[in-house]
Amino acid sequence: MKPLDELKARLLEVDDINGAAALLRWDQTTFMPPGGSPARGRQTATLSRLAHEKFTDAAVGRLLDQLERETAALPPGHDDAALVRVTRRLYEQSVRIPGALVSEFNEHAATIYQAWTVARPANDFATMRPLLEKTLELSRRQANCFPGYDSIADPLIDLYDYGMKAASVQALFTALRARLVPIVRAITSRAPADGACLEQYAPADQQLAFGLEVIRAYGFDFERGRQDLTHHPFMTKFSLGDIRITTRVRENDLTDALFSTLHECGHALYEQGIRTEFEGTPLAGGTSSGIHESQSRLWENLVGRSRGFWEHFYPRLQGAFPSQLGKVELDTFYRAINKVERSLIRVDADEVTYNLHVMLRFDLELDLLEGRLAVKDLARVWRERFEADFGIPVPDDRNGVLQDVHWYSGPIGGVFQGYTLGNVMSAQFHDAAVAAHPGIPAQITKGEFGTLRGWLRENLYQHGMKITAAEAIRGATGSDMSIEPYMNYLWRKYQPLYGLEERERTALGVS
Ligand code: ZN
Repeated sequence: MKPLDELKARLLEVDDINGAAALLRWDQTTFMPPGGSPARGRQTATLSRLAHEKFTDAAVGRLLDQLERETAALPPGHDDAALVRVTRRLYEQSVRIPGALVSEFNEHAATIYQAWTVARPANDFATMRPLLEKTLELSRRQANCFPGYDSIADPLIDLYDYGMKAASVQALFTALRARLVPIVRAITSRAPADGACLEQYAPADQQLAFGLEVIRAYGFDFERGRQDLTHHPFMTKFSLGDIRITTRVRENDLTDALFSTLHECGHALYEQGIRTEFEGTPLAGGTSSGIHESQSRLWENLVGRSRGFWEHFYPRLQGAFPSQLGKVELDTFYRAINKVERSLIRVDADEVTYNLHVMLRFDLELDLLEGRLAVKDLARVWRERFEADFGIPVPDDRNGVLQDVHWYSGPIGGVFQGYTLGNVMSAQFHDAAVAAHPGIPAQITKGEFGTLRGWLRENLYQHGMKITAAEAIRGATGSDMSIEPYMNYLWRKYQPLYGLEERERTALGVS
């Protein structure tokens, strides 16, 4: 067999095992009865170990050595050259992390997650403390598999947002924070929006049916995907022909399920848009957490929370919920779904305050990893920092340090920056698409999304992991990552919503 074919055959086996493990995890959070839990944890751990062993086999390293020589003359954009380059990067990451550490982390993650599901409702941080100390220790050990870093967070960030470092994230956050804090202050000094029209009973089935209607219009391919219910919505992939999204429903909240569906659909459109020739190789995936999140946020917020989108869909939503919304004006509804307020829970936060939640988490993680903060002080420091940033007290740990599943199911470090990078880049991709096709906003008011999706597929989705995040943003938008489009987007949208005055524009740092 030729070396390239042998590499592809080996990668396909790894991909098969990973796909099977993903299916087991999806089932665990959707349909599995509780009694399946112990065996399921063991089964996914076994598959993960097998995939790790196969991928880190010395033979893969030898094939890469040989193929690097053979593909050296190819242009970097050649598929084979990209496959060898990306596989080499992932291989070097994987061989540095010992299988025993992977297993120990997986086992610990199952334990701490189980404990958190009990501790959060009980508001009991004390029992989480030793477990979280273990998470911190394991996260540090994982980072230390990659010596030569500037910050111990760097190797963890690199796993999710290749090319970024703690220092580059901090520089971006500092610039963004300086502009977001005044805009939050200006908005919250105005009369708050009234969200009462959303807080009405709405049957789950009708909510779900409406969400499916919208993502069908977005172009979600139901021949290659489906949606099911879960507690903490996510997207997962078994192959390029089978991309799953999940959502949750709150029957006293009219749009919670919808926006969760639109968010996960954005992740799915990215994956469904990848070239099918990449199937079974590492190229068949999103290129970074930040780029992935830019697509979920684009379809959820820049499209799904826009005035134009609702010009088309609001009469339909009113038709689905006539007793709840029949007498509610479009403008009242539009204000309600774009209500800005200082709130406790990150995942429920609006577009303007959301990034401040991320910055708090990122900074606390960095302090933990770099040894400036001990887990025993974490709950207290959280409360102090939150009150300083948001101006509201944290009533209990349930709404503070215990609020979401991060830290209680995965590492400390590496994950949070992706959310804000995604918000920032979502506006850049959207602006570039509209610059290329100025008719997109008018199409959205008619419920047509093909031009936008087509542009994104052509310029971003199809490439998968073949291009890095930095290459993706430069290739699609013509410039490097910048906060300007995002700040301009926030101004354009929230200036009329909250009656911000033109004279405030420069004070808020919007050009
Ligand atoms: Zn997401």
